[in-house]
Amino acid sequence: METSSTVVETLPQVKEFVSGRHKMLIDGKLVEAASGKTFPSYNPATGEVLAEVPEGDKEDIDRAVSAARRAFEGRWRQVTPSERGQLIWKLGELIEKHADEFAQIESLDNGKPVAVARVADVPLAVDLFRYMAGWATKIEGNTIPLSVPGGGYLAYTLREPVGVAGQIIPWNFPLLMAAWKLGPALAAGCAVVLKVAEQTPLSALRLGGLIQEAGFPAGVVNIVTGFGETAGAALAAHPGVDKIAFTGSTEVGKLIVQAAAGNLKKVSLELGGKSPNVVFKDADLEVAIPGAASAIFFNHGQCCCAGSRLYVEKSVFDKVVEGVAEQGKQIKLGPGMDLSTQMGPLVSSEQLERVCGYLASGRQEGAKAVIGGQRVGERGYFVAPTVLTEVKPSMKVYQEEIFGPVVAAMPFSDAREVEAAANETIYGLAAGIWTRDISKAHSLAERLRAGTVWINCFNVFDAALPFGGYKQSGWGREMGHEVLENYTETKSVCVRIK
Ligand code: ADP
Repeated sequence: METSSTVVETLPQVKEFVSGRHKMLIDGKLVEAASGKTFPSYNPATGEVLAEVPEGDKEDIDRAVSAARRAFEGRWRQVTPSERGQLIWKLGELIEKHADEFAQIESLDNGKPVAVARVADVPLAVDLFRYMAGWATKIEGNTIPLSVPGGGYLAYTLREPVGVAGQIIPWNFPLLMAAWKLGPALAAGCAVVLKVAEQTPLSALRLGGLIQEAGFPAGVVNIVTGFGETAGAALAAHPGVDKIAFTGSTEVGKLIVQAAAGNLKKVSLELGGKSPNVVFKDADLEVAIPGAASAIFFNHGQCCCAGSRLYVEKSVFDKVVEGVAEQGKQIKLGPGMDLSTQMGPLVSSEQLERVCGYLASGRQEGAKAVIGGQRVGERGYFVAPTVLTEVKPSMKVYQEEIFGPVVAAMPFSDAREVEAAANETIYGLAAGIWTRDISKAHSLAERLRAGTVWINCFNVFDAALPFGGYKQSGWGREMGHEVLENYTETKSVCVRIK
């Protein structure tokens, strides 16, 4: 990985922001942690410290929850749906205005190519806020015809904000995950405490400044940086929080459910996956091969919906595997700030260790790496795009979510066999199908136990399209109008009128 002239110049405002004194947004003010403590965020391309950020913990969560409660009971209630929508829209506009800055911050903190952040993470976050801005004025109840003998009743439902929402997000799409969480909660009229991932706190801290600039009343949005076991756990267990929304691993999702049990707060979860990606022999392989490669290699495989189990119909297995391997071989690894980089480093040394652990276990259990299979270089957290064959269902690399650029490829004989294999994990987040036969595509789509099925495409996201998991991939949906269910309560009002 030599440095090249395609490295982008860090914007002066990004330099200033990254090296500045970072503060969290609590109660409308930018503040340090109550303890005064900070912790480092690293540049994963180099392993060097990028910034020191406040180490928020229980005390900060308490402050943030109290502020959110005051805002929810006070000023935020007086804000009309139209005004709420305008504030959310304005936040989207401000992010768009600072798009280059956000793309660079994301690249430096997370490792992803700045060019990818510029066309994916940032515009998707902007779109999400714009889409949700529109919902603020459209959250409606119904009038309900009752069958009570004798009649004489008017009944209707109100959709009310659930209250103070705690939100915990991961590091793979830091800004976008913040948008997925904040947009619908604010549209519904909730006040929010957002705990961002400790690996990638910077874009949310920058967002805190824009939330102030947009003019949200104090306490409506609070952003806390800190660790999962301290700040995150305190938020999930907090008796003053009415609802917790979590995106992250299935393992931590289960801890969130337990923590939420104290006051039975509402819970929505978007968790892990081990998504099957099924290529039939009648697929357009010119499209399916790069599609299958990008299904796993996009964002370095650090996607909960990554197409990490590639099932290929026997007669085209070798061709597809060779094709995906060729695509993987061509991927240029490097620092995210280099425009020629197609794949950056993994987010952290822990993630590097975890992915390398899976590669070692695959080797020990008899899987064969057609390409990759190891770390690249000594500096930064780079892992080579990896295609594994000879993978058996008993292997860890088949069953567990690796969250790295590692795909297991398996041959199959017919639709029935692949349906059973695709459905045989604890997960059910997403799936891909590649075929020219529309009946086959739709009937398999119907039988797959997954929250999203992509046909002849993969990783297509839109603010209007619900996303979430069956089985242990989660509860509830993100995006679309469905996500509003996560942030509203239905109140039935029944009036005797005769
Ligand atoms: P990953 O394994 O991808 O890092 P995690 O599920 O560990 O994902 O983390 C996702 C988010 O959950 C992060 O913001 C992290 O700080 C938070 N988190 C981790 N452990 C806990 C916990 N015990 N309680 C609440 N939040 C947690």
